[in-house]
Formats: sequence, C-alpha cells, structure tokens
Amino acid sequence: MLQLENVTRIWPGNPAPVHAVSDLSLQLSSGEFVAVQGPSGCGKSTLLLMAGGLLQPTTGDVRINGANPYTLSADERATFRARTVGFVFQQFHLVPYLDVLDNVLAPSIAVPNTSSNVRQRAEELVEHLGLGHRKRHVPGQLSSGERQRTALARALLNQPQVLLADEPTGNLDPDSAHAVLGYLKEFAESGGAVLLVTHDDRALPFAQHVIHMHEGQVTPA
Ligand code: ADP
Ligand code: MG
Repeated sequence: MLQLENVTRIWPGNPAPVHAVSDLSLQLSSGEFVAVQGPSGCGKSTLLLMAGGLLQPTTGDVRINGANPYTLSADERATFRARTVGFVFQQFHLVPYLDVLDNVLAPSIAVPNTSSNVRQRAEELVEHLGLGHRKRHVPGQLSSGERQRTALARALLNQPQVLLADEPTGNLDPDSAHAVLGYLKEFAESGGAVLLVTHDDRALPFAQHVIHMHEGQVTPA
C-alpha cells in the first residue's frame, strides 16, 4: 500500500545542509496502523510529506498503491494524491469561512467526475464522526476536538487507501485525542493504512507497530 525505500531528504542549510531523513525504509500494508514516534526536529513531518506525494525525496523511492507519485506530472500527481491519500495535521488547516460540511466537501474539487453522491458521503461522515449537530458551524465555533474530527472527515471524503497523520492529537484534550485515535484505528480495521507521526505517547496503544525515529533514521520499538 505504501512503500518507502532508502528515502533521504536533504534541506539546504547554513552552515551545512540538514539531513532531515536519511536512508529510511518502511512499508505499510492495508489494515495496518503504524506510529512513528520521535522528538521535535527528528524528521517526522518531512517523512510524512514524502510519503504523501507532497515532497520529492532527494534520493530513494516512494510507492503509493504501487505507483511512484514523483514520476507523474504536477496535475496528475494532485489528482492521484486526492484519490489515494488523506492528510490530518496538528493545526487542522480548515477553511475558516466554510462550515463543517463544506470543509469536508472541499477535497471533492480535486477529483474529476466526482460522483453526485459525494454530498451524501460527506453528510454520512459528519454524522459518523459525531458532528451532525455542528455541520452548519464554521471552525471558529467548534472545539478543538470537533475541528480535528472535521479535518478527519475531510481526509476521508475521497475514500483514500492511506491516511497520514502529523501530530493529530497535539492540540487535543484527552477525550478528544482518544476519539480521534479511535477513528484512525477504525479506518485501519476497515482495510486502510494509517501512518501517524507524533511525540504524543497517548497515540501508541492504538497502533499495531511503533517505530522510533531519531535524527532522520528509524529503529523498531
Ligand atoms: P519534526 O516533524 O520531527 O519536528 P521536521 O521534519 O519538521 O521534523 O524537520 C526535520 C529537520 O529538517 C529539522 O532540522 C528542520 O529544521 C529541517 N527542515 C524541515 N523543513 C525544512 C525546510 N522547509 N527547509 C529547511 N529545513 C527544514
Ligand atoms: Mg513535525
């Protein structure tokens, strides 16, 4: 489902370039929930961007569903990403002037010929994630947990095979963090693949595998 082979990312830097990720390999099958845990600056976000087709590795190979996103044109890659990968971030990144339902529907724009029942799917996701009573509210009227569940519904709209989560519980209280992690686990149990990066220990019991990351490299827990 998701394969990274000997992936390295070097950021330009002064006085020396930064090896944010060094010769890292990992594999994620459908139904798997993997957590990568490591301190700030160890390369977690860089890893996730490369895994999601958003940042080309300096060297190494990324495959999503067997395809290398970085061999596609920018337009093809955007559509491929929208169909295959969902992203969830610590800072939610919701559109402030759209209500919950329209935020959840936003990714349908990136997929040509979206079926007409996409609105129904958005409604179902919103209900399923416990936001039915909030669908006409804008993000500023929501709690942090509700914002993150909205972001999660948005990530799931196009029925991705892979869900990538970057510190998704960093801004959440314990109950909300628990709920969001439970939904990630549920996505894996339904056949999706989840790659979560975090320094939050609360996430670890939800994952099947925990990988430690340090200075751009990983070691199994
Ligand atoms: P983490 O998510 O674990 O905190 P990051 O992947 O954000 O780590 O960063 C890893 C390293 O790469 C850090 O040293 C950071 O300063 C550097 N880095 C991240 N993004 C950039 C960038 N856009 N330009 C230059 N250096 C970067
Ligand atoms: Mg980060």
